[in-house]
Amino acid sequence: MPLVTTAELVGDAGWRGRGIAAFNVITLEHAEGIVAGAQRSGRPVILQVSENTVKFHAGQMRPLAAALTALASEAAVPVGLHLDHAETAALWHDAAMAGYSSVMVDCGWLPYEQNAATTADVTELLHAQGLAVEAELGHVGGKDTQVASAHEPGVRTDPVQAAAFVAATGVDALAVAVGSSHAMTTQTAELDLELVAALRDAVQVPLVLHGSSGVPDDTLRDAVRAGIVKVNIGTALNVAYTGALREALSAKADPRPPLNAARTAVADTVAHLLDVVGG
Ligand SMILES: [Zn+2]
Repeated sequence: MPLVTTAELVGDAGWRGRGIAAFNVITLEHAEGIVAGAQRSGRPVILQVSENTVKFHAGQMRPLAAALTALASEAAVPVGLHLDHAETAALWHDAAMAGYSSVMVDCGWLPYEQNAATTADVTELLHAQGLAVEAELGHVGGKDTQVASAHEPGVRTDPVQAAAFVAATGVDALAVAVGSSHAMTTQTAELDLELVAALRDAVQVPLVLHGSSGVPDDTLRDAVRAGIVKVNIGTALNVAYTGALREALSAKADPRPPLNAARTAVADTVAHLLDVVGG
């Protein structure tokens, strides 16, 4: 099956009133497990790589992206490639060449005016290369923290400001702060579903939920019903991956049995979450 663009997958899911899950890849075994889980579920999926993961791969974006492109091309379900949480210009510039069809331009940590101005400039650049752009308004906390914070207090995306931001920047999808937080290892986040619905009514582009690993399954279903389209999931996979790895590690030198267990645990988690998100 040919690689499809993130925009096609997000657009199709939004049109059908369903969610599309985007899973964070760190190692090749993550990606193989994600595709296996998607094939089992019979649903499309987005493979996404964050700037932090590019740094983990010695700052090289292309080797992993090439592997993901090959994996996606041979998958039995539609697979899109997305560059997640990209903060630096070098990544924005090289994303298309590496094979990504969309980029999250992460300036959500900047004050509003600077976030809007930088995002607008970069969006113009990326659109010229045929890429779709996701941006964030209202910082979704928890990124880069080792300790999972239960609830990121206070920060919420304002619907009026969100509509103005989308109009000013021309972005294709908007990540919103509605109660989730990155890096949560328990499903205890409480989402403001009324705010999700208000944002859906105010904003013309698909909404993205980050930090979805911390959201209970039923709440995730409700969030999609309320208007979330793209659902980003990273930590839940890493919990499954490292848990299985730890359990399967032995004194033997061959890394394949524990990595195989990790990959299978990722596939199981993905198949389950796609059923939750995909309706
Ligand atoms: Zn995120």
